[in-house]
Amino acid sequence: MYRFAPSPTGDMHIGNLRAALFNYICSLQDKSGFILRIEDTDNARNIDGKDKEIFEILTKFGIKWDTLYYQSKNLKFHQEFAAKLLHDKKAFLCFCDEATLEAKKEATKARGEAYRYDGTCEHLSDDEVLNNPRPAAVRLKIKNEPQSFVDAIKGEVKFEPQNIDSFVLLRADKTPTYNFACAIDDMLEGVTFVIRGEDHVSNTPKQNLIRQALGYTGKIDYAHLPIILNIEGKKMSKRENSSSVKWLLQKGYMPEAIANYLILLGNKTPCEIFSLNDAVEWFDIKNISKSPAKFDEDKLAQINREHIKLASDERLKELGFDRPNLARFYTQESSLIPEIKAKIDQIYSSKTVLGEWSDNANLIKNVVLNLDIPDSFDEFKNTIINATSLKGKALFMPLRLLLTGAEHGPELKELYPLIKDEIKEIVSK
Ligand code: GLU
Repeated sequence: MYRFAPSPTGDMHIGNLRAALFNYICSLQDKSGFILRIEDTDNARNIDGKDKEIFEILTKFGIKWDTLYYQSKNLKFHQEFAAKLLHDKKAFLCFCDEATLEAKKEATKARGEAYRYDGTCEHLSDDEVLNNPRPAAVRLKIKNEPQSFVDAIKGEVKFEPQNIDSFVLLRADKTPTYNFACAIDDMLEGVTFVIRGEDHVSNTPKQNLIRQALGYTGKIDYAHLPIILNIEGKKMSKRENSSSVKWLLQKGYMPEAIANYLILLGNKTPCEIFSLNDAVEWFDIKNISKSPAKFDEDKLAQINREHIKLASDERLKELGFDRPNLARFYTQESSLIPEIKAKIDQIYSSKTVLGEWSDNANLIKNVVLNLDIPDSFDEFKNTIINATSLKGKALFMPLRLLLTGAEHGPELKELYPLIKDEIKEIVSK
């Protein structure tokens, strides 16, 4: 069982979408099922409507989930499991207040050390606990032992005991921390493999420790994806436009192309252009490189052109192209859907040829309007030459302006077969 567990706290990042795609592909390969879990337990950061946006984006990418969960609905389980851990003495109540903890954190920082909870409340007597009226957090008891797990991409990852302290499971207000909620939900939902971003590597031993403390014996394997860098080799910040899936879609990249590029990135694939379904045939998480991948928008643009060329008429119409053949043809000029649309629209919108080419354009227009339009461009051109005696630039510039509305563009000979049936309408606009 695989899952994608986004937080509804901001625009979906390409790193998240990459994780969603990989989890989905793997779930299709072993037919185990795919869960979408909205991790909405951080009330302060949740943004209204972001869950719906996640559904819309995943649907655009052809990602279908078998089950949908909202993490907040599991609150009662998080609290019950925290109570069980307390009962089993695997966890303890912590009365330390924020201000004290903050001061201790600052002091360790000033000494240049990493902060660890100092165990103040771990050995309180039953009396001390029962007589303390203050609200308490629940912390997991941690043994002073190294931890490790085997990552499907990174291999064995080890953690020294000083890097894992008695961390909080349930805050004093009874809300679960990310690690606790996530560990419990993965267990309850029968997740067996987690593919997620590298920023979660240090959470994995904590989540494993929580489930071990609960006596859970089910195994969960992990693969942590290296971060995606921008073209300058720097970490892509959330503020960087091209890191937002919504922005890339709005700019005019097809979901098929974005998915293709994100699967290709830092991967060994049998070919460069493929669909999600193709990837299900050969995708192997072990082929993902350990080193960070670089996001190159030019490469995405090239892949976008290929996907526009490959798309069916129906798909291109869905994307707003009334004339699919022209859309494919114009990929030689532009990569983005709106740019290609603008070029095609220019052919069909009114064009007033002004200035030096205006007289010649009128001559050509009159010939074309009275012509029995031939199949071959050469015949079309020769008829115009014979009737007008124009040649060279004096013929081609006004002809190009009449047909495309632009001074530069594709070979007219190649464009002609695609527009010849509508050519009288085109020149009269
Ligand atoms: N909500 C977490 C995130 O979006 C989930 C991490 C995970 O996959 O466990 O980063």
